Amino acid sequence: MQSLWDLPDFDDHEAVHFVTDRDSGLKAIIAMHSTALGPAAGGTRFWHYPDPNQAVADVLRLSRGMSYKNAMAGLKLGGGKAVILAGPDRAKTPEMLAAFGKAVDRLGGNYVTAEDVGISVADIVAIAQQTKFVSGLPVAEGSVGGDPGPHTSYGVYLGVRAAAKRGLGKDSLAGLHIAIQGAGSVASGVARLAAKDGARISIADIDQARVQKVADEVGGTVVFADEIMTLEADILSPNALGAILDEQSIAALRVPVVAGGANNQLARKEDGDRIHTRGILYAPDYVINAGGIINVATEYLKDGDKDEVRRRIEKIPGRLEEIWAESAATGRNPAAVADAMAQRLIGRG
Ligand code: NAD
Repeated sequence: MQSLWDLPDFDDHEAVHFVTDRDSGLKAIIAMHSTALGPAAGGTRFWHYPDPNQAVADVLRLSRGMSYKNAMAGLKLGGGKAVILAGPDRAKTPEMLAAFGKAVDRLGGNYVTAEDVGISVADIVAIAQQTKFVSGLPVAEGSVGGDPGPHTSYGVYLGVRAAAKRGLGKDSLAGLHIAIQGAGSVASGVARLAAKDGARISIADIDQARVQKVADEVGGTVVFADEIMTLEADILSPNALGAILDEQSIAALRVPVVAGGANNQLARKEDGDRIHTRGILYAPDYVINAGGIINVATEYLKDGDKDEVRRRIEKIPGRLEEIWAESAATGRNPAAVADAMAQRLIGRG
């Protein structure tokens, strides 16, 4: 059997905690990839993994991703992630969440949790009964915190503008045709902000009512979900699913720029080279979509108000510029450049 240290996704993680609570049936893994910049922060995923080894791979990969994302967002946070292994019935009990909260608490603040797939705000409130090392709690109107979506949208919009400047030589989105994948929280915010600048929006979602509503609001055109990735446009902004950029889809792209907020857009590492080789400007996802985590981190660390959150998000275009400049100077693709920058920031250059 392969040891944890030999797994392909193991990347010198500082600690990996396997949690079992017999009474509640909780099985969870908490991975702390790096605490070089601060407590390992990243949400908890509640998911049924048919093979528990998939849970190990997921938590290793996701916690490393959080280290990179938090470092590139300029936050005083390291990277961590937790997964709760749901049974086939996906039953989630208060006892399980309480046991998980206690496990987080035992780590003494070295790991800070928040929502992720399968964990709602109500679940986080339940976990917070057992530990203060939690972020993403509901906040009062006007305070820092709450729904990260609009902050992510704002950062993505600024990143799209930076990409238009770098890739198309345009100072504004006015008159540019932007193809947006998704019409959810992040995508709808990007569509509104881009439309306000005078961009022409084509937008797709598998939820027809949702996409129609956003299209009507921004004066855009609804496109079939299976056509958005091959639409001829100035910019493709993926804001729905991960792993959408693979060998086939990259070959079929008809845009000079890809800049959007969806997590893990590149199916594989090699796809960073593929998109670069095609001469398409790519905005590394975890850099452009950091607006939400910036808001969440400022809430947790209590080190800034709403204006400060905005100022921090407004640094995203500068970081992208830095990545693209290094990419142009070295010939390395922007995703690889971003990873190398993040590694340097956490002292692993
Ligand atoms: P959301 O659930 O509000 O929206 C996602 C939308 O994608 C839904 O409307 C869904 O119907 C649509 N969708 C699903 N499959 C699709 C397909 N095949 N084609 C077109 N549309 C499809 O989620 P969100 O919060 O807007 O997140 C969108 C992406 O951004 C995700 O990848 C998420 O991980 C990433 N992200 C979100 C945040 C945040 O603050 N919400 C932060 C960072 C990254």
